[in-house]
Parts: sequence; C-alpha cells; structure tokens
Amino acid sequence: METTARWPRLVGGHVALDFINTDVVSGGDRSDDVLRSADEFVAWCVYANVSGASPTMTAPHGARREDLLHAARSLRTATRTVIEGIVTGRAADGRALSIVQAAYTRSIAEATPAIRDGRLTWRRTTTSPEALVSELAVEAIALLCDGPTDRIKACPACGFVFIDTTKNRRRRWCSMDDCGKEEKIRRYVAKRAERSRRTRVG
Ligand SMILES: [Zn+2]
Repeated sequence: METTARWPRLVGGHVALDFINTDVVSGGDRSDDVLRSADEFVAWCVYANVSGASPTMTAPHGARREDLLHAARSLRTATRTVIEGIVTGRAADGRALSIVQAAYTRSIAEATPAIRDGRLTWRRTTTSPEALVSELAVEAIALLCDGPTDRIKACPACGFVFIDTTKNRRRRWCSMDDCGKEEKIRRYVAKRAERSRRTRVG
C-alpha cells in the first residue's frame, strides 16, 4: 500500500472537498492523483475518515474493481465541476449535477430509512467499498444543499478547494504550510530584490 505521505493534506474543511482535492493537477501533470487504482481509493477513504471506511477493507476483485474506480472518478469529476461552477459563478453544469444526483440516488436506494431523535436518517448497513462512493455522494449533496457554499474558495496557487471558516473571510491559501508559505517567501525575495535594485540605482 502507498504511504500517506504523498497524499494531499486534508485542507478542504469538508470531506467532499478533500475528495475533490485528491485530483491534484500541477502544470498538466496528474501523477499525484491518488485515485490511480481502486486500492488507492479505498486507502484514501480510510485516511480521510470517510464514514464506513475501515483499515481492514480491501478493494474488490474482477470487474467490480474497475467499476469502483470508474464510479469514484466520475463522482469526483462531477463534484469538482459543480463546485468550481459555484466558486467561479458559472452557470450550473446539468450533466455534472446529474452524475452527482445519480450517485446520491443509488446511495439512498441502498439505505434503510430510520427516525432518530425525531429526524429522518438514512442508515447504511453495507460496508462494501462501493458504499464509500455512495457516502461521498451523500456528503457532496449535503454540502451543496446546506452549504456553506458561499465560503468555498479555490487556492490561487494549487487549485485546492476549501471552506473559508475565518471570521473576516480572508483566507486565501489552501494551507499556510504549503502555498501560503511559498507566497510569503516569493514576496520576501521580490522585496529584497527591489531593495537592492533601488540601492544600486541610488
Ligand atoms: Zn494551495
């Protein structure tokens, strides 16, 4: 199994956003994508604490294996399209919304309705790897319906999406340990270069 070291930090503030952030694209390079296999998908779900994921869970074999990877990737792409549309104020992408809806519909069909504390809940009894895709669809729908979608931002450096929970809503970077730090260093170097240029001119 892959080490967790190469997996993106969980900076999204919501599992649906962390899921999107597994598709790291840097200069057209997708080699950091953690969903290269069904095994990686299951392992990431354990790492990200997706409900129903357990360290003993393994990816299925045969055709189910490819189907699982395909379902996970397709949900991820669709969720990203919808979220990016919201962040950039673009018109809703009907096809992407339908894909999220279909995954959500499947998850509700597989669940058992129950009333808990006076509220309707969907109890999922299956602990199959496929149920992890369903769980991520439920999380995506919960975020899209209940928000706070107005606080979702994309890091200008790496494209990671996250919920800005700061009071003044001025969080800019996915993480101050990564992109925020790089920007600070970049500004510092630029300032120093400017200062030495002025000294030379003067
Ligand atoms: Zn970033």
